[in-house]
Amino acid sequence: MITAEFDYQRVSSVADAVAALQAGGEDAKLLAGGHSLVPLMKLRLAAPSRLIDISGVPGLAGIERDGAQWRIGALTPHARLAASDVGLLNRVAATIADPQVRNRGTIGGSLAHGDPASDLPAAVLALDGSVVAHGPDGERTIAASAFFSDYMETALAPDEMLCEVRVPAMDGYGFGYEKFHRRAEDWAVVAVAAAVKVLDGACVDVRVALTNMASTPLRAGAVEAALRGQPATAEAVAAAAQRAAEGTDPPADLDADADYKCHLARVLCERALVAALAPA
Ligand SMILES: Cc1cc2nc3c(=O)[nH]c(=O)nc-3n(C[C@H](O)[C@H](O)[C@H](O)COP(=O)(O)OP(=O)(O)OC[C@H]3O[C@@H](n4cnc5c(N)ncnc54)[C@H](O)[C@@H]3O)c2cc1C
Repeated sequence: MITAEFDYQRVSSVADAVAALQAGGEDAKLLAGGHSLVPLMKLRLAAPSRLIDISGVPGLAGIERDGAQWRIGALTPHARLAASDVGLLNRVAATIADPQVRNRGTIGGSLAHGDPASDLPAAVLALDGSVVAHGPDGERTIAASAFFSDYMETALAPDEMLCEVRVPAMDGYGFGYEKFHRRAEDWAVVAVAAAVKVLDGACVDVRVALTNMASTPLRAGAVEAALRGQPATAEAVAAAAQRAAEGTDPPADLDADADYKCHLARVLCERALVAALAPA
């Protein structure tokens, strides 16, 4: 299908992008990799009157270790993240779609899009990451736990641009990401991200987040509470993973009904935890 008509503006700085968003009003949209927005426009599910192309804004595509955290520019493509040392996010990015999408799609676009079936949102949530947004009133940092507000809705104001993603370095943790999809390049029917730290044979910290189990990515708090402090054994993992669907509200869709998604969450959670414990 062909998109509705729109004005196109290319900007070369964050300040210009914010100014263009303000001038364009609620119908203006930023364009990063275009691999979520353009398909929606072609299906006429989105019809922005103005596209503000931020793909050429310098300094926003890069990954840098800054003390105990990673700083990831909003325009960093999935392929670069997949090849990086950023724990958990590297293995999650590698599961996204195909090389073409991974070379164009950006972490900022993925988070700002707010699709609960996207892979990076749950991973950033599992790591207790945050995003840095720029708007007319300056810069603010939003915790991932407060960022995803509803289906394809985030805490970003219409005139704010997401510029950076920050996640803790998580040294000493093991990671797992298990994704169930119908074809290799598809979005997740369900996926589970896990990060676990083991000391003296016990799981001293456990982070688990779920993709596509509600209208936003979710932390699996019951699993985390059940495994934290327990021995890092197959039995303890299996028991904790049984709680993966607690507190979820998965929508039925063409791929799976809610019961099947809950079953997937439990199975994938066990596999993700086993993978996360493998280094220990
Ligand atoms: C065939 C195909 C398969 C895919 N499979 C997967 C998959 O398996 N898993 C997965 O997670 N994703 C998948 N995707 C989506 C892909 O990862 C997208 O690239 C990504 O979700 C959005 O990033 P983008 O840079 O393309 O954003 P865009 O499409 O440019 O933008 C998406 C939305 O975010 C807004 N936006 C973009 N950047 C910013 C910013 N810096 N600040 C504020 N708002 C911003 C835009 O205005 C728009 O509303 C797939 C896409 C395709 C086409």
